Amino acid sequence: MNPDATPHADPRAGAAVKAADRAHVFHSWSAQELIDPLAVAGAEGAYFWDYDGNRYLDFTSGLVFTNIGYQHPTVVAAIQEQAAKLTTFAPAFAVDVRSEAARLIAERTPGDLDKIFFTNGGAEAVENAVRMARLHTGRPKVLSAYRSYHGGTHTAINLTGDPRRWPSDSGTAGVVHFNAPFLYRSPFYAADEAEECARALEHLEATIGFEGPATVAAIILETIPGTAGIMTPPPGYLAGVREICDRYGIVFVLDEVMAGFGRTGKWFAAEHFDVVPDLLTFAKGVNSGYVPLGGVAISAAVADTFATRPYPGGLTYSGHPLACAAAVATIGVMEDEKVVEHAAHLGATVLGPGLRELAARHPSVGEVRGTGAFWALDLVRNAETREPLVPYNASGQANAPMAAFAAACKKGGLWPFVNMNRTHVVPACNITEAEAKEGLAILDAALTVADEHT
Ligand code: PMP
Repeated sequence: MNPDATPHADPRAGAAVKAADRAHVFHSWSAQELIDPLAVAGAEGAYFWDYDGNRYLDFTSGLVFTNIGYQHPTVVAAIQEQAAKLTTFAPAFAVDVRSEAARLIAERTPGDLDKIFFTNGGAEAVENAVRMARLHTGRPKVLSAYRSYHGGTHTAINLTGDPRRWPSDSGTAGVVHFNAPFLYRSPFYAADEAEECARALEHLEATIGFEGPATVAAIILETIPGTAGIMTPPPGYLAGVREICDRYGIVFVLDEVMAGFGRTGKWFAAEHFDVVPDLLTFAKGVNSGYVPLGGVAISAAVADTFATRPYPGGLTYSGHPLACAAAVATIGVMEDEKVVEHAAHLGATVLGPGLRELAARHPSVGEVRGTGAFWALDLVRNAETREPLVPYNASGQANAPMAAFAAACKKGGLWPFVNMNRTHVVPACNITEAEAKEGLAILDAALTVADEHT
């Protein structure tokens, strides 16, 4: 990035922003009086900066959405042009930029996922995918994995496996959780990937059997689960789930809200496994989060259910022209600048090898997982027993070792993604090799702090 882009420090302005935030902004997932949000003065590319003149390399991509970094000039210009031309228009009309965004997305999703239902984000995409599956099959139940995150709205949070579900769990009828494969902390006591895969598929099929196959509308999985720990499924697992879905007439939904649009070094992570779901949910990277946008890519068979019968769902801002203009421009940038190929290359040559090298030197790193620009370090107290660096903490309070690790990252100029006992390495997919190496060096120093707790 251009170093001149970092403005001069203005702590007084920062204090005013912070004071107004503290007075009036009610923050997500937070105890309001226990948080201390950083006041952000600006951002460009892979970096952002505060009002005190501190610049951070963003290894979180926001919430894993700025796949092409902040303030890409082509996308900013496209949003400005669209605002000048037609800022908004209701969803029942055909609008050029909406049609174009749908076409570009459909051309990149796998198989026959050729119809696009637009939403404003990931949770709404999941809500609508579930509704489509239930209406398509006439069945009530949806199966999802314990180690998963699907969004913060009613059905999406109930489908979510991770403990963020607990306070909001309404015990929604029809939501059934199962264990998906995760060899490092295997729920099946498997010795290797082949065994983990076989046992996970047996478990899934048994769950369907106990629930009654004729009651199961859908199975929803993140292709590579993100928030829950970036756990690439073993070879054959997703193909096996596809087969089970076909056998029982169950709709297979892949949630690619986080893994889609280049994050894993493919347009969609499903391509790594050669599977085509019936529904695919997306958001985040579709336009790098510059304007809220998400959606469901729909197969011909599911779309056909609503050919002559109305689809009973919709959103006022579905396919908002500003969001669609940002998507068209973002996809263009990703093609022109070969961002997807770059993410694959970066994962294979810099991030993967670099993180593994850190793991070899730092006893606190239990496992390195990931691909492309989508990695996790599983931090442990004891590499032998794999005891997490932070023993499970149901209260959700910040915990000392991970807080110390995060503070060391920030002191070094890197903004880390920290969740439970993990740090995820999820920078912009177009981060340069030099920037990636700068980040690895900061992580190296911060991991010595984590090592003190092993
Ligand atoms: N699904 C997955 C896989 C996600 O990672 C997320 C967000 N982290 C969501 C759904 C929800 O998306 P949103 O926050 O845009 O509603």
